[in-house]
Amino acid sequence: MGRVGLGVAAGCAAATCAIAAVLVARRASARARWRRAVALLREFEEGCATPPARLRQVVDAMVVEMHAGLASDGGSKLKMLLTFVDALPNGNEDGIYYAIDLGGTNFRALKVEVGAGSVVTSRKVELPIPEELTKGTIEELFNFVALALKDFVEREDEKDEQKALGFTFSFPVRQTSVSSGSLIRWTKGFSIANAVGKDVAQCLNEALAGSGLNVRVTALVNDTVGTLALGHYHDEDTVAAVIIGAGTNACYIERTDAIIKCQGLLTNSGGMVVNMEWGNFWSSHLPRTPYDISLDDETQNRNDQGFEKMISGIYLGEIARLVLHRMALESDVFGDAADNLSIPFTLSTPLLAAIREDDSPDLSEVKRILQEHLKIPDTPLKTRRLVVKVCDIITRRAARLAAAGIVGILKKLGRDRSGVASSGRMRGQPRRTVVAIEGGLYQGYPVFREYLDKALVEIMGEEVARTVELTVMEDGSGVGAALLAAVHSSNRQQGSI
Ligand code: ADP
Ligand code: MG
Repeated sequence: MGRVGLGVAAGCAAATCAIAAVLVARRASARARWRRAVALLREFEEGCATPPARLRQVVDAMVVEMHAGLASDGGSKLKMLLTFVDALPNGNEDGIYYAIDLGGTNFRALKVEVGAGSVVTSRKVELPIPEELTKGTIEELFNFVALALKDFVEREDEKDEQKALGFTFSFPVRQTSVSSGSLIRWTKGFSIANAVGKDVAQCLNEALAGSGLNVRVTALVNDTVGTLALGHYHDEDTVAAVIIGAGTNACYIERTDAIIKCQGLLTNSGGMVVNMEWGNFWSSHLPRTPYDISLDDETQNRNDQGFEKMISGIYLGEIARLVLHRMALESDVFGDAADNLSIPFTLSTPLLAAIREDDSPDLSEVKRILQEHLKIPDTPLKTRRLVVKVCDIITRRAARLAAAGIVGILKKLGRDRSGVASSGRMRGQPRRTVVAIEGGLYQGYPVFREYLDKALVEIMGEEVARTVELTVMEDGSGVGAALLAAVHSSNRQQGSI
């Protein structure tokens, strides 16, 4: 080989080495970036951990806060609101009633026919609430509701006699009677300034009268209370109700003498339904991560509804988006096209659920969602698995915390241990406890339900968990409100609790 040949060979070798060096360096840096993504995942998983011991701490904290909220107004972040519902439907109700369900993503109107121990929804409409109405004036929102109800009622040629309406309004309300109460504050992204402090039943009655509709609010109820009413109608062992939809909340039947902040409160039944407003529950035992803090900063109700922001439908998808966005920034696992991840609320909770429930071998649904909704093309399988894991961690934590909340109520009622021991009944006859449950997240997401059930067993043990039934009440918040309108209308038959 001549000098020239040697020179060319040496040049080629040097170039090959340089290319190899670049490739090795690139691979090393890709590996480092992947390791960073995995480290972020591990950190997030640890931050969200809910081992049984921690869940039991949450249960105990819930019980402590329930006592504090019952002892005095402002005594706890749990408001423990009186509902003035001291009688629940028991099968004696009769007639045709209307209900409006307002309080989250959708507005619903229902016509309910009840009699001879049976209740049927004879008609129903559901409309999304226009975004601008959640931030305007209360008159605008209620005029929209009144017109929608008028359209609904007048579609059937009915007599012009006055009709009783159950109004489900799922925001914190300080009730002054079963049919009146003032809004304490908005939650779930609503922010209508001129409504706080106003009697929402009166405002709605004015809008109804203004629209020429002969319908009046007979019962103003929280969605949890409606769900409890329908649950109790079907099964008298129902003692509590939980909503896990756009937001989350719970109510239960309390003895009036345990409602210390209202001394001298007397009811025929000796009990009253208490609306916990548990979405606002807070405890240092809750597993809070930096992503939860970022989410809180994005919301209009900062520092409030901390429990709700870890559990409910408005928020879970957004927590996932925040985690994936940080991974995109720090690890580049989604390539250059991850801009959509920087837009708040681009990943909804139904999408998070669909990602977690994709059981295809190549995660083709995850691929489709990343492509279509987040504009992230061509993700390798291992990246899709990472995304599934993020959604799983969020779902698991949410469901397990909801389970801890439920056990908190059962513990307050003395039903979290063997009912045999606490009720002094004979061995072998465990007391049955039913919790009515409703909400799009719980009903639409089987993995969430599985995690919740499993956590109930982990916290209470199998034997006690077997005595607790969670029963879905389809449209419970609306149908239950109509039933309460029946209980509190002129055809009233004394209900029981
Ligand atoms: P609301 O009565 O407050 O409007 P819903 O009980 O109808 O709320 O629940 C709606 C919420 O449930 C939505 O915000 C959504 O996040 C969640 N959701 C609905 N369907 C599903 C689903 N299939 N999987 C997970 N979450 C769902
Ligand atoms: Mg609802």
